Formats: sequence, C-alpha cells, structure tokens
Amino acid sequence: MITVLNPADLTVVGEVPDSTPDDASAAVDAAAKAFPAWARTAPRARSELLHKTFELMLRDREKLADLITAENGKTRADALAEVTYAAEFFRWYAEEAVRPGGDYGSAPAGGVRTIVTAKPIGVAALVTPWNFPAAMATRKIAPALAAGCTAVLKPAAETPLTALAIAGLLAEAGVPEGVLTVVTTSDAAGVVSTWLADRRVRVLSFTGSTAVGKTLLRQAADRVVVTAMELGGNAPFVVTEDADLEQAVAGAMIAKFRNGGQACTAANRFYVHEAVADRFTELFGREVEKVAVGPLISDAAVERVTAVVDDAVASGARVTHQAAVPAAAGHFYPPTVLRDVPDDSTLFTEEIFGPVASIATWSDDGELVARVNDSEYGLAGYVYAGELGRAIRISEALEVGMVGVNRGLVSDPSAPFGGVKQSGLGREGARHGLREYQETQYLSIDWP
Ligand code: NAD
Repeated sequence: MITVLNPADLTVVGEVPDSTPDDASAAVDAAAKAFPAWARTAPRARSELLHKTFELMLRDREKLADLITAENGKTRADALAEVTYAAEFFRWYAEEAVRPGGDYGSAPAGGVRTIVTAKPIGVAALVTPWNFPAAMATRKIAPALAAGCTAVLKPAAETPLTALAIAGLLAEAGVPEGVLTVVTTSDAAGVVSTWLADRRVRVLSFTGSTAVGKTLLRQAADRVVVTAMELGGNAPFVVTEDADLEQAVAGAMIAKFRNGGQACTAANRFYVHEAVADRFTELFGREVEKVAVGPLISDAAVERVTAVVDDAVASGARVTHQAAVPAAAGHFYPPTVLRDVPDDSTLFTEEIFGPVASIATWSDDGELVARVNDSEYGLAGYVYAGELGRAIRISEALEVGMVGVNRGLVSDPSAPFGGVKQSGLGREGARHGLREYQETQYLSIDWP
C-alpha cells in the first residue's frame, strides 16, 4: 500500500494500492476490451455521460476540495477553484464530443471524392503530476473519452485520492467498466514503461517535468506511440513603464502565488521596466507580506527552494519582502520577493516551483524580448502594458505557447493549453485537446 500524507501537517490522509506492472497490464486488458463498444457509442451518449460527470463533480465540490487540500496541501480557496476548473473540462468536452470533425472533398483531376474522418486512436495512457490532482486528470480524461478512446490513468503517488474519487464519479454517471482505470503505484517507471511496451496502448498523454517527459518520449519512440507532452515552464512576467501597476500587482499575485507557486504556468521571472521597478516592488511586496500560501509538496522541495534563493543572494540579489508562514510541521517556505536577480541565477533559469518572486529590470523592448527568449522553456508568459498594441507586439515576440495580456491567469478549458520548445508538444483544452486522441483517415472514392 502507499500511504498518502498531508503536506501541511504530515498526518495520514489515506492508503491506496501500490500496483505492479502486472496490475498495469491488467488495466490495459480492461481498456482494450472496453474500447470497441465505447468507440461505437453514439457521440451524444458519450457527451451525456461526460455532462453527468460534470454535474457530479459540482455536487461533490466541497468534498473534492477537502480531498485536494488534504493530499496536496493547497489552500481551500485554491482547491475549490481547481475543482470548478477541473469539472469544466467535462462540460467542455461533453460539448465537443458531438463534433468529432471530418471533411469531404474532390480531387482536382475529377473523378475522385475524399471523405475524411476523425477516429478514436485507441487505448490512451494518461500520466499526471501532484500539483493539480483534479484538473490535470480531467484535462486528459474528458477529451480522451469524448473522442471515443478508453484510458488508463496513473496519478502521482503523492496525490492519488482525487483521481480515484473522479473515477468513482465517472462510474456513478454510468461510464462503463474499463473505459477508465486508475492505477496507483510507487513504481511510476515500471508501470508507464509497461504501458509503452504494450502494443494496445496507442497514445501517451503526460503532464510533468521536462526531464521525465524526455525519458518517456524516448521510450515512446520504440513503438511510435502518439504523444502529448505538457512539461515544465519558466514563465516571464513583463511590466512596461506605462502599465497600470495596481492591475499588474493583482495579476502578479495570481500568476505567482496560486498554488503557492507550484504551477507550471507560475510567473518565474519578473522583468519590470526600470522606470517603475521601485514602485512595482513596493506595491507587490506589500501584498506578498500579507499572502497566505499552503506548504510545498515535500521537504526536498523546501530544501531546493532554500538553496536557489541562497545562491541568488550570494550572487547579488536582495530579499526585499517576506511573509510569515505557520510554524506547523509541514513543508512551508515563506513568500519572498527578491530584486536585482541576475539573469544567470538558477531562480531565472529553472522552475522555482515555490512562492518566490524574482525581479530584474529592463529598459528596451528588443533587449527584453531577447532576454526572455534566452530559455529552453516556453510554456506561459504574462505581459502588462498600458498600450494594448505594444502589449500584443511584445506578446507575439515571446517564444511561449500562452500569454496572459494584462491578465495573471491563462488556464481555460476553451483555450489550447500547451508549450513550445522544451515545455511540450501538443495542446490540451479547446478543440485541439480532442485532436490528441483522434487519428485521421480518408476514403478515396471512385466517383465516375
Ligand atoms: P514529475 O515529472 O516528477 O512527475 C509527473 C508524473 O510522472 C507523476 O505521475 C510521476 O509519478 C511520473 N513519473 C515520474 N518519473 C517517472 C518515470 N521515470 N517514468 C514514468 N513516469 C514517471 O513531475 P511532478 O514533480 O509531479 O510535477 C511537477 C512538474 O510538472 C513541473 O515541472 C511542472 O511544470 C510540470 N507541470 C506541467 C504542466 C503543464 O501543463 N505543462 C502542468 C502541471 C505541472
């Protein structure tokens, strides 16, 4: 069994089975057996089951939020927001399920017609991280099931209870057995490599770190498995000299401190125009001193954040503001603001994944864009500017998949979430998310 701990006070939240590679194969047996009937089920029927699951998630909103807070540690407000966001993927894909897409054409030379269809690919393996235990699961389950795929899901060992609860709601809604099986394990590598070696598994959708994503891409290459990769980020947060600073601070609080900074879209590097840097730091710092965040996921995470902050301070950065944290047994790190962070500091080059806001200054748009783009990551970015045209010009020059323009939040089920460069391949959400679980076939028809 795996014991699940509450990272805020280290109490035991529950126990789940520690599944083996054999159990992982058995889950694929179930998914492969369920696939033909599920793929044939009328899109409207699949849609209604997803809609019912959306309603059940809202019915259980409080209970699910309790579970997320208990196993992940995030604040109740963050947990409630996550449940709503997560549930919306079922509603969105209930609406998309009845629009699988397709096309019809005729060959330029005449005499031939083409019918293009989008078919469910087959069994999908879904692997999710601990930072959004509900939303990262539903962002994959909902489009997979809408497309007509069946799935096996491996949640992070730190936060398996929420995924199991969501699987329970799908069953309660009437989704047939085998369409989704959750496999909890402490042997992530063993379970996922078993799936990737199984010829019945045709899709891998992974959300997690870039390092693990690369390993899985290499493994997926052996059988040319269709992959979607939602990997790490290093989001810039740009403030121009004509930005509304109060609005920018409000956005920064969300972009940085949602989930205590443990989000792939978390603002990681603040680039504030030198003309407004002091004022921004002061307004932002005042808010940061008041913010309450949950604990980090583990002791190791606290040690890592401590080490990178100490390292930045040793290379010239200054701590300007810091909040207090509970003196509980949990893995807390105080919300912190730093100024004069050098571009080559680890705080700027790697994901912090904690409540630390690092600020550097700039003075020229071209130089700003070059500095921001000097990164292997390209998930999200944020741009605050007074003149919308300039905000859009800067945003379009950034090598990232998503930009919050005068907004501190980009996640939305109706928008294509995903990154460029080493932040990932493919998109989740919107119509694009459905495409990850469909393959294109065309019929070339003799039409004399
Ligand atoms: P992680 O890569 O350590 O783990 C993610 C998942 O992969 C977990 O289920 C884990 O058990 C599994 N895993 C770990 N090693 C594995 C292996 N060798 N083979 C197969 N599976 C393995 O990431 P994490 O620490 O859980 O999550 C944090 C990371 O996730 C951050 O880098 C963050 O940016 C990223 N993330 C990205 C997105 C996105 O949408 N782009 C969203 C959330 C989190």
